[in-house]
Amino acid sequence: MKKQHLQDLHQKLEAEKSELLEVEARLAGPDGLGASMTDATGELSAYDNHPGDSGSEMYERSKDLGLLENTRQQIAEIEEALRAIGEGNYGYCHNCGQSIPEKRLLALPRTLLCVQCKREQEDRDADHRPVEEESLAPPFGRTFTDDEDSVIFDGEDAWEAVARYGTSSYIEKR
Ligand SMILES: [Zn+2]
Repeated sequence: MKKQHLQDLHQKLEAEKSELLEVEARLAGPDGLGASMTDATGELSAYDNHPGDSGSEMYERSKDLGLLENTRQQIAEIEEALRAIGEGNYGYCHNCGQSIPEKRLLALPRTLLCVQCKREQEDRDADHRPVEEESLAPPFGRTFTDDEDSVIFDGEDAWEAVARYGTSSYIEKR
């Protein structure tokens, strides 16, 4: 690859990274997932809320959580690509070692795999779902996990999860 192209890609990756870091900060910050449940809904207390009301708030938060995970994943890929540029092995597939066509790199600078390996990876991963679907998770069915891959809750836990996010006294006073 021409040195000029490599420099362009490096610049592109850096720009993309700082954009994603901003998105991440917004999603995780005080106006996003950092806000407590009651702050986010503008209610003084979640005590008298119907679980259904809290449910739609839960839905918004879980959507944000899905976005946040996706954003962090992209940042990690970009950092990997930047490291590869630094080490001089950028543009070679991490899986098979073949050089990745420059066209593909220019279209998707953070890619670490050639098209062939990327396809195989997606085929292998039978559970692969589009990220939009991922964010449709709780409380409507799919099991949801956090960064450490521990289950936050599954579909059956939905009511309990709402109560836990709201107030624990809700269950006791019923
Ligand atoms: Zn490959």
